[in-house]
Amino acid sequence: MARDEPAEPEPALAWRRVARAVALPAAVTVVVLLVVPATLGHYWIFLLTSGVVAIPIMQSLGVITGRVGVISLCQMSFAMIGAWVVGWCNVAEVPGGFAAWMVLAGLAAVPAGLLIGLPALRLRGVNLAIATFTFATAVDVVFGPLQYPGAENFSFVTRPAGFTSDGGYFRFAVIVVALLFVALALLDRSRLGASWLELRYSERGAAAHGTNVARGKLAAFAVSAFIGGVGGALLVGQAGSTTPTAFSSQISLTYFAIAVVIGVRHWDAAVIAGLTGALMPVLMDAVHVPQAYVKVLFGVLAVLVIAEGRGQLGQSEIIRARRQAKLARQHTTAARPPATVTPRTPRPDAAGDHDRPTALEIRDLTVRFGTVTAVDDVSFAVPKGSVVGLIGPNGAGKSTLINAATGFTPCTGSVFLDGKPITGPPHRRARAGLRRSFQQLRVPPTLTAGRFVSTAAGRTPHADELAEYLDWFGCPPAHLPIGTMDVGSRRMLEVAGLVAGRPSMLLLDEPAAGQGARERRLLGGRIAQIPERTGTSVLLVEHDLELVRLACESLIVIDFGRVIAHGDPESVLADPEVVRAYLGSAEAPSPGRTPVGN
Ligand code: ADP
Ligand code: MG
Repeated sequence: MARDEPAEPEPALAWRRVARAVALPAAVTVVVLLVVPATLGHYWIFLLTSGVVAIPIMQSLGVITGRVGVISLCQMSFAMIGAWVVGWCNVAEVPGGFAAWMVLAGLAAVPAGLLIGLPALRLRGVNLAIATFTFATAVDVVFGPLQYPGAENFSFVTRPAGFTSDGGYFRFAVIVVALLFVALALLDRSRLGASWLELRYSERGAAAHGTNVARGKLAAFAVSAFIGGVGGALLVGQAGSTTPTAFSSQISLTYFAIAVVIGVRHWDAAVIAGLTGALMPVLMDAVHVPQAYVKVLFGVLAVLVIAEGRGQLGQSEIIRARRQAKLARQHTTAARPPATVTPRTPRPDAAGDHDRPTALEIRDLTVRFGTVTAVDDVSFAVPKGSVVGLIGPNGAGKSTLINAATGFTPCTGSVFLDGKPITGPPHRRARAGLRRSFQQLRVPPTLTAGRFVSTAAGRTPHADELAEYLDWFGCPPAHLPIGTMDVGSRRMLEVAGLVAGRPSMLLLDEPAAGQGARERRLLGGRIAQIPERTGTSVLLVEHDLELVRLACESLIVIDFGRVIAHGDPESVLADPEVVRAYLGSAEAPSPGRTPVGN
């Protein structure tokens, strides 16, 4: 593992990585700026400008589809709004010139983005695609009869001062596109950017880490619409005037298809996709192939990509993932730290200890699904600074209990965190200090280990602190993408991320599922240390009784949604009712018997 490489200070490593990431796009921008206008003829500059001004459309798709994974078929509508705003500003001679109009164009598209974002909060997949396409068609209808402002008396949009020649406007467009890439790169490094990648993978997972899902999605639509609006402004700045057909829903559809096939989250892919979208018709004309054929081809390819279930991950993402996996293989040869763990000293009847302050208290909690009562009037408390195990056979109601306590499932009864009642949606409970993991792993493969920990923690720990958390749970180093890790490491990372947030209370739903015996032992020992190291109390749902014994000072057993026993592990596991419920036989569960159920 990279941990064993010669030591280099983490911040220096991080800067080197940033420099490496920036070097290529910066060099490409400078070379293009210097070489193209100076060496190419009028026709080629015009052609390349058409390609460059199409890139923002792909950047806008890169936000909504590439990052959040939401299908949007109305990006050209945002561009049309932007183009018209520039036209109106031009006719009215609004002060500030083209650059200011371009910003206004982006801002004007934002309300449209929010408007289409609202149904997106409830709709998904095909339904959302239909909603966005309907919006695009509506914009077609509204703008269809409109002439471009100033077109009736041949007044063209005034290009930005200092960039009025074709070569100059080419430079201007390249600079704007480069600035948009810089802004997107900064967004990617922000908490919002990380939450977009989480949203794409699992909305529930993001909510459990304190992300307001609705706000995250709306922000993505707003940013995407802004960039689309800027793109529309750039498009009309080149031609000087335009028509609604240049922004039709048909073109939105084609651009979406290209974006899905190529993938537009990263700058290089967005550049290729933009150039493809704009220059394909010209190329097809040159070789006498009807343009409609190419649109059909991309449409078919897009359907194939979507049908493959890659969730709008284009070819560029797949190539990148393969390359990262290869790099990761070269880096991860060293063994994990030894799983040295000390079994937990049992604390008699801690779950029922009324003298200790409680981190979590559940009172009279009931969850019904139709006629099934999954959790039936359950009450218990987790004392502050303890690790309590919640065990019971499959279908006993453990996950449902966690879902209800964290706000994911409606219930009756009350939940108290640190003695205060806690209510509201999951992200609010998470931010208040009630965190959870899911039985089904929800760690987004597109994040690196380090980014995941800061996202899950809801704060950015210092590089040393981050490395400490990763090390503590035996996780791969911070820069490694999660997509390259095995399930066992992802499970460890999930717990490390949640613990790094130092929540008051952590609910772990079968965190060891999918792990090998050695990892389970390590995890058990680490969970036992959590209260002491971060002040977090833990409720651990787990089938592996060895792990439970290692980690927990007391146990609560539920069966058919009811608490049937609680107290110190040995006496609880010896309780005949527990034995009957758990094993369906008179045989007592022993540390060696793992797992029970699944
Ligand atoms: P455990 O985590 O202890 O294995 P669960 O909490 O997943 O059990 O399930 C408890 C009971 O609630 C089961 O009978 C299960 O079928 C039922 N259940 C869980 N979720 C739902 C749901 N969304 N709709 C209907 N029934 C559910
Ligand atoms: Mg469960």
